[in-house]
Amino acid sequence: MEYSPKKIHELLEYHGFNFKKMFGQNFIVDENIIDSIIRKAKIESDTLVIEIGPGAGSLTNKLAKVAKQVLCYEIDHTLDCVLNTVLSDFHNIDIIYQDFLKSDILHDIQKYDYQHLYVVANLPYYITTPIIMKLIEEQIPVDKIVVMVQKEVGDRFKAKPGTKDYGSLSIFLQYYFEIEKLLDVSKHVFLPKPNVDSIVVSLTRRENLYPVENIQLFFQLIKDSFVQKRKTLRNNLKNYDLDKIEKVLNQYHYDLSVRAEALSIDIFVEIANELSHIT
Ligand code: SAM
Repeated sequence: MEYSPKKIHELLEYHGFNFKKMFGQNFIVDENIIDSIIRKAKIESDTLVIEIGPGAGSLTNKLAKVAKQVLCYEIDHTLDCVLNTVLSDFHNIDIIYQDFLKSDILHDIQKYDYQHLYVVANLPYYITTPIIMKLIEEQIPVDKIVVMVQKEVGDRFKAKPGTKDYGSLSIFLQYYFEIEKLLDVSKHVFLPKPNVDSIVVSLTRRENLYPVENIQLFFQLIKDSFVQKRKTLRNNLKNYDLDKIEKVLNQYHYDLSVRAEALSIDIFVEIANELSHIT
């Protein structure tokens, strides 16, 4: 079937599909936005793309035209009739009807032969952060993530020190990825229309990671430093060796009364490395 937003609309009605708010179902019905996402994602023909939540397949069918293979996870199995119809012409799309958060991605991607691994999706907003954290924590070897997210969440991804959006999530993501906003997206391009504005962001894996000596310690330090955002490092990091922390802070003209939100990733890296040295 040739794709058009009107056809998808009719198809959803034909199959008596009911949108489920609890699954964050806001489908894109503007072909220009989908084309822009595809163009800006720069997917090469030897790429395996993972899509979380194909919905009615609007993005999926365009992904399949440029990628080698598309692997989708969809929690709502009542979408299977719609997806079977919309995607019937493609032989390079697999759909697993499962909660992505419970999936075994490393196992599922084993059977494919590919050069690049991308995640491209219009994410269900209620689980944006858990989805991204799953990709990081399970060390899925993704080269690039291109996702539509709620604007406020996307702003946190790319936030810089000293801004209100900067927090532990910004550091986790910026440690691994170069983050860039690709598109602003109006709420009017979705069915049903959400209450929030959206942006499309790309997270491209960094070639050179920050020189962290003990990654567990680094991430724990970040979590603990931001545990109460309004508190100082002295308060949030009571269980750490404060002398060592202060020594590093002093080099940057800070002391323990500083809040985590003021500190760059480089300073956190230095603190973590100082803490990991046995004296
Ligand atoms: N990609 C479609 C589009 O852009 O029109 C739909 C995007 S909609 C914002 C999010 C999709 O994610 C829905 O199809 C929803 O059913 C699915 N979804 C929600 N929670 C999920 C989960 N835990 N695992 C997999 N899919 C999920």
